[in-house]
Order: sequence, then C-alpha cells, then structure tokens
Amino acid sequence: MKDYIIIGAGLCGLSTAKKITELNLGSVLILEKSRGVGGRMATRRTLNTRFDHGAQFYRVKSDIAEFHKIWKDNQLSHQWFVSFKGDHWCANDGMTSLAKKIASGLEIQLEKQVQQIFFENNIWRIVSDKNEEWLCKYLIITAPLPQSIQLIEHSSLGAIVKLSELEELKKIQYTKALIGLVILEEDFSINEHGYEEYSNGDFFSIADQKSKGISQDRALTLTMSPHFSEIEFEANDEVTLQKILKIFLKQFPNTKIKEAELKKWRYCQPTGTYKNFSCEIAPKLYLAGDSFGGSSLLGAVRSSVGLTEVLLEN
Ligand SMILES: Cc1cc2nc3c(=O)[nH]c(=O)nc-3n(C[C@H](O)[C@H](O)[C@H](O)COP(=O)(O)OP(=O)(O)OC[C@H]3O[C@@H](n4cnc5c(N)ncnc54)[C@H](O)[C@@H]3O)c2cc1C
Repeated sequence: MKDYIIIGAGLCGLSTAKKITELNLGSVLILEKSRGVGGRMATRRTLNTRFDHGAQFYRVKSDIAEFHKIWKDNQLSHQWFVSFKGDHWCANDGMTSLAKKIASGLEIQLEKQVQQIFFENNIWRIVSDKNEEWLCKYLIITAPLPQSIQLIEHSSLGAIVKLSELEELKKIQYTKALIGLVILEEDFSINEHGYEEYSNGDFFSIADQKSKGISQDRALTLTMSPHFSEIEFEANDEVTLQKILKIFLKQFPNTKIKEAELKKWRYCQPTGTYKNFSCEIAPKLYLAGDSFGGSSLLGAVRSSVGLTEVLLEN
C-alpha cells in the first residue's frame, strides 16, 4: 500500500515522484513496463555504438532549470549548440543517463505493465499483465495519452470517470515516428553543429551522434517526418528501412552507408496540448505527461510541476 503510485518512468513520472518525495507528501512507487527508465528520452546501444533515438536534446528554460543544474553539476550534460530557438543541451552518455540520474533514490519497479485499475473503498488497486497487484491512495498515469485512455477504458471504471473530460482528451492524438539509425563509412558533416531540422520533405531531423559526443562512430539518427512515418508505419520494416536509406542517399549522394537499423515510435509527439497541466479524470486519479505540459521534455516536467501543485493544494 502506497500513498502514490505513478504509472510510467518517463521524465514526467520521474519528476513527479521526485517532487512528491521532496515535499514529503507521502510514499511513492513508480511502475514502468520497459526494462529501463526514461521513456521517450531514450538511448540505444546497437551497431556497436550508441544512439539517442528519442529526444535528442533539452532546451534550458525555467521549468527544467532545477534538473539542468543537477545534470550540469554532475557533468552529465553539455551544451550542444545554440540556435535562434535558444540553448540546446545533450547528455554526455546518451539522454537515458539523464533520466537515470533523476531516478536514483526513487522506488521503481521495472517490467511492470499495468493492465487494469480498480477503485474500491476509496483505494486504487492496480493490476499488471502478470496479475501482480498494488494498492494506493492516489494514482497518477503518465503514459502517452492514448495509452492512458486505453487503460482507463479497459478498466471499466463506469460512472466515476468524468466523461466530458475524457472526450476532450480523446481529441489529442500523437504523431508517429520512424527512425533510421545509420553508421556511415566516411566522415560526414550535416552542418557546423551536427543537428538539422527540416520544415518540409521526408526528414524531420538528422542528428549526428558523434558531434554530441555519445558515439565514436559516424552515427546518425534520421528521424522521419510525421507524414512519412504515418504512411509507412505498418509497412514491412526492412522495406521501410531501405526506403529511408534511399531518401538519405538521394539527398546526400556523397555518403556511403555501412550499417543501418529501424526504430519505431507509435507515440512520438502530441498534436495538441490539454488546457491544464494535469487532469483529475476520476477521484484521486490524475493524468499527466507531455499532452498536458507541451510536446517536449520541458513540457513533461512542466506537467509534473503543475500536477504537484494540485496535489499540494489537495
Ligand atoms: C523521436 C522523438 C524525438 C524527440 N525529440 C525531442 C527533443 O529533441 N527534445 C525534446 O525536448 N523532446 C523531444 N521529444 C519529445 C519528448 O521525448 C517527450 O515529450 C517526453 O519524453 C515525454 O515524457 P513523458 O514522461 O510525458 O512520456 P514518456 O517518456 O513516453 O513516458 C511514459 C512512460 O510510461 C510507460 N508506460 C506506458 N504505458 C504503461 C503501462 N501500461 N504500464 C507501465 N508503464 C507504462 C512507458 O513505457 C514510458 O516509459 C521527442 C520524442 C520522440 C519520440
């Protein structure tokens, strides 16, 4: 029995747990379905090197300033580049390492996929796909919003769910993302700082992992546009990967690809943001995450800060 259980160890879940702990609001446990923490703040070891294949950087603004200080003071992050959009910071060892730092000291159970939730005698009962159970007074779900809604609907909570809010939340969809992880035969420079974002065409961005300092190899993360990703998402993986490589070679004919791999995100970025930083969708059941604070790491933290203020008031 915990005071708080948080579903999801992405940045929003970790940040919320940390703030609840710092404010002495009660005991808190995070349940995460994956083998590690970070969610879309993700680093993959593959093709004999390391790639950030979710978030590439964070931008330093007030909401994330506290975490930025921790990461910077512990030599975990460095400034990657500055553009007209501001300061872009990345992790020395991959973005997951930043999530791991926030996670240290928190109680987290990994590989726990929550499948159903029940509200009985003013207590939340949480059940995993392996029929494990936990109890808590307050439940916080920080999964990408469509997954949170699916969990609520799968749980048949009946009249306690605020249906008008649920309908409002269902309007927020997510873009998909197909990612090509590529090792080149020879050196390549996309631009002076190693990151390029495109406003049209098949690419959303190209990020040079060597210029970030997380790979010794000529490793690139090719993030395809939401349009391309939506069309190709259900196609055969190998065919899709070859398509991505062909587009890359057409745009950069002087490059040679050594190895490549495909990664898919069904939920990349929310297409809209909810009116508040969190939503109490049923008694003592809160939804939070980037659909509430904005579609970025900053937004995930902003949502957690807003939610903690609500918990504190209550
Ligand atoms: C390809 C890509 C590139 C991006 N680039 C950037 C960038 O450069 N800069 C930036 O600021 N942002 C970027 N973003 C967005 C940023 O990564 C997200 O906004 C942020 O990580 C969201 O954090 P979150 O905690 O809200 O959700 P998530 O990180 O998605 O965390 C949710 C967690 O819940 C877990 N979960 C889901 N369902 C269950 C369940 N039933 N039981 C248990 N656990 C569950 C998931 O496994 C996950 O770990 C990018 C995203 C993607 C996909």
